Amino acid sequence: MDNMLLRFMIFGFIIMSVSCDPQDKIHNTIIIGGGLMGSATGWQVSTDTEVLVLEKQDSIYDSGSSLGEARIARSSNRGDDMWSYMHNTSVDEVENLIDFLNVKTKSNDYSISDIYTTQPVSYLGKMTIHDKLLASLIRQEVDYKMAVTPEEAKKMFDVDLPEDVLLQREYNNYSGTINPEQLINYLHQGININHGEVRHNSEVRSLKKVEGLYEIEILDKTKDLTYTLKSKKVISAAGPYTGVLLKDVAPYFDDLINPQRVFLAFYKIRKEVYEDLPESDIQKLKDAYPVINSSKGTRDGTFFSMIEYYEDGIPVIKIGGHFQRSVVKDMDQVWRLDLNQNERDWAFNSTLGYFQLLGLPISEEDIIFDHGYSCVYSLTDNEVPLVTPVLGEGSQLDKSLIVLGGMSGVGAKGAMTYGLLASDILKNQESRTDTMYTHVRSVMGSSRLVDYIQ
Ligand SMILES: Cc1cc2nc3c(=O)[nH]c(=O)nc-3n(C[C@H](O)[C@H](O)[C@H](O)COP(=O)(O)OP(=O)(O)OC[C@H]3O[C@@H](n4cnc5c(N)ncnc54)[C@H](O)[C@@H]3O)c2cc1C
Repeated sequence: MDNMLLRFMIFGFIIMSVSCDPQDKIHNTIIIGGGLMGSATGWQVSTDTEVLVLEKQDSIYDSGSSLGEARIARSSNRGDDMWSYMHNTSVDEVENLIDFLNVKTKSNDYSISDIYTTQPVSYLGKMTIHDKLLASLIRQEVDYKMAVTPEEAKKMFDVDLPEDVLLQREYNNYSGTINPEQLINYLHQGININHGEVRHNSEVRSLKKVEGLYEIEILDKTKDLTYTLKSKKVISAAGPYTGVLLKDVAPYFDDLINPQRVFLAFYKIRKEVYEDLPESDIQKLKDAYPVINSSKGTRDGTFFSMIEYYEDGIPVIKIGGHFQRSVVKDMDQVWRLDLNQNERDWAFNSTLGYFQLLGLPISEEDIIFDHGYSCVYSLTDNEVPLVTPVLGEGSQLDKSLIVLGGMSGVGAKGAMTYGLLASDILKNQESRTDTMYTHVRSVMGSSRLVDYIQ
């Protein structure tokens, strides 16, 4: 055997052993990014089509917008019925996933309560929102209680509400928190059972379209080797990395999707103080989370907070602010950035202020900073996500490349619905025929791309 042939055979063997794919294989669909969006889409696509999900992280994530165990899931939304629809449809889709996993594994090991923790969701806001809120609660069929004066709040919830502020509590089933980590895990199990594969430690280094096919260069991070795969269709679900990923095929996404840093702080109540609280206060604390507090009526004063998990029986309370955003200087490093003193003070004072409103006997010294970290949002200019085909040659829609991006602070609760939308576009179908589905498909769709390009 001559040297050339030998080298060619060794090279071929390396390619195969790195990628597990025959060299000439053309994939049907490759999804880039295995966060909530890529995983939800992968699950939908995999029901009848071969799909490969590429994720650069190991199976236990330490970055990404979906990182963590709790996000607020809620049906009530003062702004727009669309968000309520995204959540409710996601609940239906999670039920389908759970049924599928139980049937396929011939077990009852999977439960919807692994994904959702049903809890009252509290909203504090200025009285000026009252009428609009009331109208949306009726339209969205939300089960709720609402106090609009300090006296009502004392009687209804035993809390000290300021004048001119309302407290609404939502009691819908599966409203409370959603666990992104567990949902991603279950979605990956579903994909692997179906016609799909999830490949971790696989970082896409470049994406190009050559003669009608996508060529995807991948770094296998466990073996430190690169290889290239070809695919007829691609779904980009790279979260804040969307602009970088699409620079050769749809460079305008770098302008359309803007990554922003946000931060989270985690607090515990001193153990002896927490354990000394009467049962009624422990229950009051539990009922008071998750919360979205806009009672100050300012962006800076607005926060969200929830119990992320319990440690030795003590709740670990997470707090952050959707308007506490800052510019990302280095995307790969931002996840490791510490909170600065102003951010810690803001988080501490907001937590203390909420305990005071709840009338809990917890003082400054009893609140202990546990840890904090930075994370990244991907935002569009109007903060409505995009689920859209790209614009190809001649500004024609090209359904062989679908982008999910700009999920900001609303993505988790609707994740399964975004996945359904992307999969439907890819398969040229409509899984739902209700008017709201058509509406969200249009609002999140290509028209904003067309406007931008023009
Ligand atoms: C602090 C914070 C609080 C939030 N609170 C809420 C809330 O209360 N309720 C709610 O509904 N939503 C909330 N959200 C929003 C929600 O979590 C996000 O919208 C959602 O997680 C976005 O998921 P994603 O899949 O788009 O992004 P990501 O989770 O970032 O997924 C993208 C994935 O792609 C991978 N990737 C990137 N580039 C590459 C590449 N080149 N090759 C391979 N893989 C790649 C990344 O590693 C990542 O895993 C919050 C978000 C944050 C950050």
